[in-house]
Amino acid sequence: MVEFPEVNDLKFTAAVVGKPIAHSLSPLIHNTAFKQEKLNWIYHAIEVSENEASECIAAVREKNIRGLSVTMPLKEALIPHLDGLTETAKKLNAVNCVYWDGDDLMGDNTDGDGFINALRSQLNVPLHEKTLAIIGAGGAARSVVYSLGKNQAKEIIVVNRSKQKAEKAASLGGPNARIGSYEDLAACDIVVNSTPLGMVGTATEPLLPVPIQFLSANQTVIDLVYNPIETEFLRQAKSLGASTFSGLGMLIHQALLQFLLWTGQNASIAGIENVISDAISR
Ligand code: NAP
Repeated sequence: MVEFPEVNDLKFTAAVVGKPIAHSLSPLIHNTAFKQEKLNWIYHAIEVSENEASECIAAVREKNIRGLSVTMPLKEALIPHLDGLTETAKKLNAVNCVYWDGDDLMGDNTDGDGFINALRSQLNVPLHEKTLAIIGAGGAARSVVYSLGKNQAKEIIVVNRSKQKAEKAASLGGPNARIGSYEDLAACDIVVNSTPLGMVGTATEPLLPVPIQFLSANQTVIDLVYNPIETEFLRQAKSLGASTFSGLGMLIHQALLQFLLWTGQNASIAGIENVISDAISR
């Protein structure tokens, strides 16, 4: 049964829904942002399984929940119960965020644009001059490829172990996207790991998404994995001399785009970044 906790009248409620949900960092990100921006909102983590999708959205309507972050296994499952989708959510057939547009409950996907905002804040890169390799072709890769295409990256090369999924992901990136292989990496300015390899708890030994000899010192290497903050992949890329960035930037920026959709306000990233990296390090 899906239950959102009762709150007093002055508070607006938002929540992350999915299963499992206990280790989600979203409550810490959003409750820190609400506090920082002095908004009288509260954000919960609610366990919702796939077969409770309809009940979840009915409860959102009934309780006037002002926003949802959406994680596995609900990214597709909530879609039939919403009133509409943004163009991005339609293209990706996945929502990571639910918000109200007037009386309509809408689904959006802020992952890819969160990646772009993080990239811009870290590198100040003119994307139309940059060739990027995206390693992996799952949900995260697809949203990143779609947003890179929207932002006219010079070239987007998807490298994935299953060719069929690579083709599907590349098809979202527009005319500048194609599939490729490790041999393409030398010509890339930016290499992005969007596989879960290196994530805490996935393997006893660190596995690299790309053999490190395919990378070089003049590249920027980004891992979408944010726990640990420095993966073995980033550690080895850094030791080559490459510039490296963890998935923390994307994690916070995709959340802040949701915050904006719900509240109409921007939140400052500075205070949030420290709180989240401390929590991950613990
Ligand atoms: P997903 O949908 O399961 O896709 C995983 C991709 O990784 C697939 O393309 C898969 O290849 C590939 N892969 C998995 N194991 C592999 C292996 N042993 N060797 C080679 N390729 C392998 O996962 P996702 O939702 O895209 O998430 C991927 C990662 O991104 C996760 O670690 C997640 O935490 C992270 N993420 C971070 C953020 C952020 O805000 N920083 C946001 C979203 C996701 P096949 O297609 O061949 O199966």
